[in-house]
Amino acid sequence: MFKIVTAFFAIILVCLPLFNKSAMAETYKVQERGTLLKIADKYRTSVDTIVNLNKLLSTQLKPGQYLETPKTYKVSEGETLYKISKEIRVTLLELLEANPTINNPDWIYPGQIINVPIKNEMIYMGDSSKKRIALTFDDGPEDTYTPQILEILREKGVKATFFVVGERVKEYPERLKQMYREGHAIGNHTWDHPHLPELTDEQMNESIQSTTAEIEKIIGFKPDLFRPPYGEIEDRQAELLTKQGYRSIMWTADTKDWSGVSAEEIVSRVKQDASPGAIVLQHNYHVEGKFETVKALPEIIDELRAQGYEFVTVPTLLGK
Ligand code: ZN
Repeated sequence: MFKIVTAFFAIILVCLPLFNKSAMAETYKVQERGTLLKIADKYRTSVDTIVNLNKLLSTQLKPGQYLETPKTYKVSEGETLYKISKEIRVTLLELLEANPTINNPDWIYPGQIINVPIKNEMIYMGDSSKKRIALTFDDGPEDTYTPQILEILREKGVKATFFVVGERVKEYPERLKQMYREGHAIGNHTWDHPHLPELTDEQMNESIQSTTAEIEKIIGFKPDLFRPPYGEIEDRQAELLTKQGYRSIMWTADTKDWSGVSAEEIVSRVKQDASPGAIVLQHNYHVEGKFETVKALPEIIDELRAQGYEFVTVPTLLGK
């Protein structure tokens, strides 16, 4: 028995340096008054890294909530960032992006802890280093709310992003042309808004490819942004879309505008979750009942502008 135990510990001792050397992840428990910014600073990373890694659909944290932090790597004697990038199979640029506090790639030292880049299939937040926000509108185009939203955006000089549904693109091609002509970004939101987890890969591809084809036919532009209906998508499906060159976009602030909430409530939700790099979810399609997106929009724009935010499209927000 003693021999077995000794052998067991011997193995652990031999393996320890290996574990030390490999990338380690940590779980962080959110403290009272903990904010994303404080946590990002603590781990020498960005707010968007924490949000995307943890798939957070809001910037509001709750004390006691657990967050995954970026994997880290301990620099050994004689190692350079270039060597490390080879070892963990990422590019030097990706490594530098994951470590915004390293200004010079030559200035690393043994024992230094650096962040391992994360490859996210889903994007919940854009670049959090600048005070910019992206407004997004789903489920159109149509002819009731879309013209009013476009009018407000034009008056206020705001560029937004529309995630459009293929069958409605086919029905309202002129509205799609107008969105595109007026400088808004266009993303794919499937052909008829299915629950993706219920589809086979073939059905999902068909729904997305037919929508891209319809958009391309009308405006001559092929979108690479995609938003899953209801925000529902299996990891495997998201990976498949990444391989096809799509970027799957979720959101940071949900207005819940489809649920019949008042304009005041929509504005207050956006204000609560507004944060540099945030993506705001709204809709430009609604079947029946109270829908106050149009009413809330001018106030959202004025309010966030007063706070110093700039409005950009999702592709602009994602570009570092
Ligand atoms: Zn939708």
